[in-house]
Amino acid sequence: MYVLKFGGSSVANANNIKIVADILLAYPSKPIVVVVSALGGITDQLLLTGDKAACGDESYRELLSSVELRHLDTARQLLPVTNQSASLSKVKQYCNEIEDLCEGIFRLQELSDRTKDKLVSYGELLSSQLLTAYLQTQNAQAEWLDSRQLIKTDSRFGNAHVLEGITHTLIEARVPKDKNNIYVAPGFIASNSHDFTTTLGRGGSDYTAAIFAAALKAEVLEIWTDVSGIMTADPRWVPNARPISRISYQEAMELSHFGAKIIYPPTIQPVMKRNIPVWVKNTFAANDPGTLIENHQYESAEKIRGISSMNKITLLSLEGSGMVGIPGFSKRLFEALAQQQINVILITQSSSEHSICVAVQSGEAEKAKHTCDAAFDSEIANGKVEPLVVEGDHAIVALVGDKMKSHPGISGQMFSALGRNGINIRAIAQGSSERNISAVISSSDVKKALNVLHESFFESVKKQLNIFITGCGNVGSKLLGQIAAQQVWLE
Ligand code: ASP
Repeated sequence: MYVLKFGGSSVANANNIKIVADILLAYPSKPIVVVVSALGGITDQLLLTGDKAACGDESYRELLSSVELRHLDTARQLLPVTNQSASLSKVKQYCNEIEDLCEGIFRLQELSDRTKDKLVSYGELLSSQLLTAYLQTQNAQAEWLDSRQLIKTDSRFGNAHVLEGITHTLIEARVPKDKNNIYVAPGFIASNSHDFTTTLGRGGSDYTAAIFAAALKAEVLEIWTDVSGIMTADPRWVPNARPISRISYQEAMELSHFGAKIIYPPTIQPVMKRNIPVWVKNTFAANDPGTLIENHQYESAEKIRGISSMNKITLLSLEGSGMVGIPGFSKRLFEALAQQQINVILITQSSSEHSICVAVQSGEAEKAKHTCDAAFDSEIANGKVEPLVVEGDHAIVALVGDKMKSHPGISGQMFSALGRNGINIRAIAQGSSERNISAVISSSDVKKALNVLHESFFESVKKQLNIFITGCGNVGSKLLGQIAAQQVWLE
C-alpha cells in the first residue's frame, strides 16, 4: 500500500488535476490512497467568506459565487460533457450547503470555531470529489473515501488531536489492501465523537496522509508539492538554495517547524513511529529526484543539512535582581503564558539568572505582556522585577543537522559569518540534542542572514559579490557583456 498526498497548487485547476491523475494512473503499484488539499487558495477564501459574513458584510456573497464558479469551471474543463452532470450537481449541492451556512453566520453575526471547521471542510470535499470523478472518466477504479468518517479527533476545532486507536481501526476496516483501487480522500478534515466536522490545523492534509500511511502500514508516503524536495533554505529568500537528497526524520522535523513549510510538522510523527519512508516530490517535475526522509543519519560532508527561518517574532524579557537564586520565577512565567495558550518558540536564560528571555509569535505579544505583568504584579510593585520588556520585529534563523553534535566549531562559524556581515544577534538557543542552533535577529536582517549562512555552509568554494551598476548605457552594458562572457573565469 502506498499513500500519496497532493497539495493545493497540485490541484489548483483542471490542467494540474490532469497532471496529478497522470501520475496516479501511471503509478506502478496499486492500491493507493491519494489525499488531496483544497484547490489552491480556496481555504483562505472560505475563511474570508465566513469572516465577512460574521461582520455583516454582504460582499461575502460575491466571494462565495467566485468559489462556486471556480469549481464549476474546473469540473467543466476537466470532465467530458457526457460525464459532467453528476459532478456539477455535487459542486452545486456543496456550494448550496456553504451558502446556507454563511447565511446563518451572516444572520447571527457570529462565527464559532466549530462552524469555521465545517465551512473550510468544503474545500477538500470539493477537490477530492473532482479528482475522483476525473479518474473514473479515465477508467481507473477510483473510490472516494470520507475522511470525516475515518479520522476521529477530540473537539479542539481548528487544530483537533487525532484519536489514534479508533482512527486506525476505522481506516483498516474501510480500505482493503487486495484491490487495485485508487482511493481518494479529502485531507485536513476529520470529525469528533458527535460527528461534528473538525480540522487538523492549517496545512493539515499532509498529516491526514501520514495518518492513512500509519494506519495502513504503507510502504511509502509521498508528499507531492510544487518544489523539488526539501531545500537547503527557502528559495524565495536564498536563490542558491538546492534540494536535499536525503534527510533524517529528526532533521525534517526541525526544518519543518521553521520557514521551510514543505511539510506540516505533525506529519513526521506517525510515520517515524512506524519507520515509513517519506518522499517529497514535485508534481510539475515528476522526474526530479526529490527528498527522501527516513530513519537514517547520513554520512555527508555537510554537517548542516538546512537553514531555516521564522518571521514575526517578538522577544519578551523578564528581568530583575529579585529573581536571582530564587526558584519558581520561570515556572510562573511559563504558567502565565500557557494559561493564555501562548506558544513559546525559544527560551534563553543567562547563568546570572538576572533575566529570562522567550520568543513568541508577534500576534501574541500584547496578550503575553498583559498576562505576565499581571502574574508578577506584586514583584513589579516592590521593584523585584521590571515590567515585561517586549521587543517586536524580530526573526529566528536556525541551522539544522544531525551531524552538528560531533563537530565543534559550527556555532563559531555561524556567529562569525553573521558578525562579519554586521548582523546583530539578540538571543541564542541550542538544545542539548545539538540538532538545531537558533539565533534571534532583527527581521530586517533575515534575507541577508540566510544568504550569508547559506554561503558559509553550502557554498564555501565561491564568494558572492554584489555589483551595482548605475545606468546601463554604453559603458554599463559593455561591462555586463564582459561579465557574462567571462563568467566561468570569474567563478
Ligand atoms: N486546505 C488546508 C489549508 O490550506 C489544508 C491543506 O492544504 O493542507 O490549510
